[in-house]
Amino acid sequence: MKKGLVFCCVLLLAAGIIYLRKYPVPAVSDKVQEAKKVALTFDDGPHQKYTKLLLDGLRERNVKATFFLIGESIQGKEELVEQMKEDGHLIGNHTYTHVQLSKMGKDDACAEIWKTNTAIYDITEQIPCFIRPPFGEWNEELSCAVDMSVVLWDIDPQDWKYKDTKRVRDYVVKNVSDGDIILLHDVYKTSVEAALQIVDILTEEGYEFVTVEEIIFD
Ligand SMILES: [Zn+2]
Repeated sequence: MKKGLVFCCVLLLAAGIIYLRKYPVPAVSDKVQEAKKVALTFDDGPHQKYTKLLLDGLRERNVKATFFLIGESIQGKEELVEQMKEDGHLIGNHTYTHVQLSKMGKDDACAEIWKTNTAIYDITEQIPCFIRPPFGEWNEELSCAVDMSVVLWDIDPQDWKYKDTKRVRDYVVKNVSDGDIILLHDVYKTSVEAALQIVDILTEEGYEFVTVEEIIFD
């Protein structure tokens, strides 16, 4: 009788092991799947009208984004930069006059960057740590002079070229995946409209909007 019981137990155990090998129980970390993350980034602002429209739309949706500002565009729009900081957006540098850094001497290029950092610091009391070089052209020589992280992008709907809300929105929604950085420009009405529609659609699809800092350091 005892032998029979032991045999039954062994049999059940073996069956259990075979079952588990075939249908493994997912680990807890698999079950609680992390939200898909994506970063919206906006270049060339601030723009009095469209950056404001965008900031209000993002605030309504409680969404964080990253803004790469042109230094010379900041003057007179300090309130917009304040709102960016207040709402938890990340503020980065896009040079002072939107120059191609790879074609400049080191001193001039550094001045473009430092002037912009100063303009941002004067409002936010924080020195930006991230830079997006205009045209995606970084000057490697600057790495030793400028202690900033260069941020490029994964998804480029060429919003500046098409200025077409639907086209820009559809391109991003179709091509985006977890961990992507999306490039847009908050100086066009169509781009801002597309951005807010992208937020609504991707939120429905389970995406969480984070700053580039979170994407890069994840
Ligand atoms: Zn630009």
